Amino acid sequence: MPIEIPQTQKAVIFETNGGPLNYTDIPVPQIKSNEILVNIKYSGVCHSDLHAWKGDWQIPYKLPLVGGHEGAGVVVGVGENVQGWAIGDLAGVKLINSTCLNCEHCQQSNETSCATKTLNGINMDGTFQQYCATDAIQAAKLPADIDLKSVGPILCAGITVYKGLKSSDAKPGQWVAISGAAGGLGSLAIQYAKALGLRVVGIDGGAEKGEFVKSLGAEAYVDFTTSKDIAKDIIAVTNGGAHAALNVASSEQAIQKSVEYVRQSGTVILIALPPNAKLTVDVLSTVVKQITIRGSYVGTKWDTTEAIDFFHRGLIKCPIKVVGMAEVERVFKEMEEGKILGRYVLDTSK
Ligand SMILES: [Zn+2]
Ligand SMILES: [Zn+2]
Repeated sequence: MPIEIPQTQKAVIFETNGGPLNYTDIPVPQIKSNEILVNIKYSGVCHSDLHAWKGDWQIPYKLPLVGGHEGAGVVVGVGENVQGWAIGDLAGVKLINSTCLNCEHCQQSNETSCATKTLNGINMDGTFQQYCATDAIQAAKLPADIDLKSVGPILCAGITVYKGLKSSDAKPGQWVAISGAAGGLGSLAIQYAKALGLRVVGIDGGAEKGEFVKSLGAEAYVDFTTSKDIAKDIIAVTNGGAHAALNVASSEQAIQKSVEYVRQSGTVILIALPPNAKLTVDVLSTVVKQITIRGSYVGTKWDTTEAIDFFHRGLIKCPIKVVGMAEVERVFKEMEEGKILGRYVLDTSK
């Protein structure tokens, strides 16, 4: 039975960075020969969407822009050159829309470093719309029985923290300190870390967030609103410092601290992108402690497949709140105020 695709659809679109977020009708995109059209059912709202709307990063944005890069839905159109996708398949639309497939990074399956990649919700229209056209190769395959409502955050936050944990080279039984542990990235990072056999100390602010972090599997919690010395507390709790520090809090100060509490020969992973942040390290102690400081940016197609598999096997729960698309502005506001526990997901039918 042919699927009927409407001419227009609901979307959230903005004309200028920081300008009004218009919940309105726009045309359904036409797919190119290399693309699939995904009827987005749910889309997570990520901190990066807030940064993209405000234009916080010095990168070229498409304007006007439909934000969003954590979409989950059903394939309703397949471009003529596309292989491996059929109408009715479930698909995830994540940050990376496409890569060149030919540069040295793409050839080495490290396509997140491709210089000419395109990004959904940044320089391509993203998932805050009912129908999204996206490159078929980077679109994520979702198992037919997956929970579409909850999988969205896995497609960005999940992949990102999973890749970060892999990049940290932390081994089962070792400690990982997670900053911003109660947030959208942090809450998933705790669960992936547990699933990988790591021990977690979460860092965040307030008793309520502490309860939440422990309910997700963190063994210890350091509250920056009451701790007199975060680094000292983490070193005490981990008996010598965390083997890995996963920086998912959008805070320059938190990143700076992580260099202090990481253990001898440990690894600091940088993930969150506080605007214009700098990290200053003392060369002597970095050399003597033999610390590795490593950036980790989203994940490859294969990281995506693995991250989805952990979720599909029930090892990762996404604490989500579902709201309508028109609520994006309120969600951004709460995000800026640091009030969100877990993650908001937009239901594109509302
Ligand atoms: Zn994201
Ligand atoms: Zn490339």
